[in-house]
Amino acid sequence: AIEISQLTTRFGKHVVHADLDLLVHQGEIFALVGGSGSGKSTLLREIILLQQPASGSIKVLGVDLENISDTAALALRQRWGVMFQSGGLFGSLTIRENVGLPLREHSGLADPLIDEIADWKLAMTGLEPSVGAQYPSELSGGMMKRASLARALALDPELLFLDEPTSGLDPESAEEIDQLIKKLRDLFGLGIVIITHDLDLLWQVADRVGVLADGKVQGLGSMAELAHLDHPAVRKFFDGPR
Ligand code: ATP
Ligand code: MG
Repeated sequence: AIEISQLTTRFGKHVVHADLDLLVHQGEIFALVGGSGSGKSTLLREIILLQQPASGSIKVLGVDLENISDTAALALRQRWGVMFQSGGLFGSLTIRENVGLPLREHSGLADPLIDEIADWKLAMTGLEPSVGAQYPSELSGGMMKRASLARALALDPELLFLDEPTSGLDPESAEEIDQLIKKLRDLFGLGIVIITHDLDLLWQVADRVGVLADGKVQGLGSMAELAHLDHPAVRKFFDGPR
């Protein structure tokens, strides 16, 4: 689970989060939406220890991030997987090496075993073992998303963070990623946090959606619930231009 309370984030005088509260339950697929600049990526960066808030508390998987020790941070980082919007795969490494990278850094397993696990993770995301020998530049957008998902799954995380997992994909590939995300949750009970603008993904996959606006999570519920909510920020999200 993720417990955020009274979180405030500032860049100079610009207040991005103002006493923001949010509770994400373990095992749910939670989607964070909101206009450009509303602070979604910043919130994610704070949750995954890439950035510190001005004040407030964040607990992830029961661990308080404030004043966390290096050892505790290292242990925690191995309990979640992150798929960045850009994919974040290293161009100089093969797909198999990219997927195996977290294992090489954290597991102490021997290389042949790491390769085997990498191929298994590729299979989980629907990629053939032959893809493992290819380089990121050789992959289509959909395959690239799958490969970065495979890497996020390398350490069998309890929590998965996906930043725009379907952006830039054609509708068919996006739909396949939607199904894959659902499958991961059903198979492993993974908690999944998704930042997205993709309405199909929201309607089909998200258990709950939070609308970030004016520094707070303004609307929180299933898409069906939000569709009826009479809050300006929520209405803007449903009715506004996208
Ligand atoms: P998008 O949908 O465009 O990705 P977002 O909701 O992810 O938007 P953030 O990237 O979290 O928005 O940015 C929130 C606000 O904080 C923006 O106004 C942005 O300009 C500002 N901001 C983010 N990072 C920094 C930084 N390192 N220094 C100064 N301002 C920043
Ligand atoms: Mg962003």
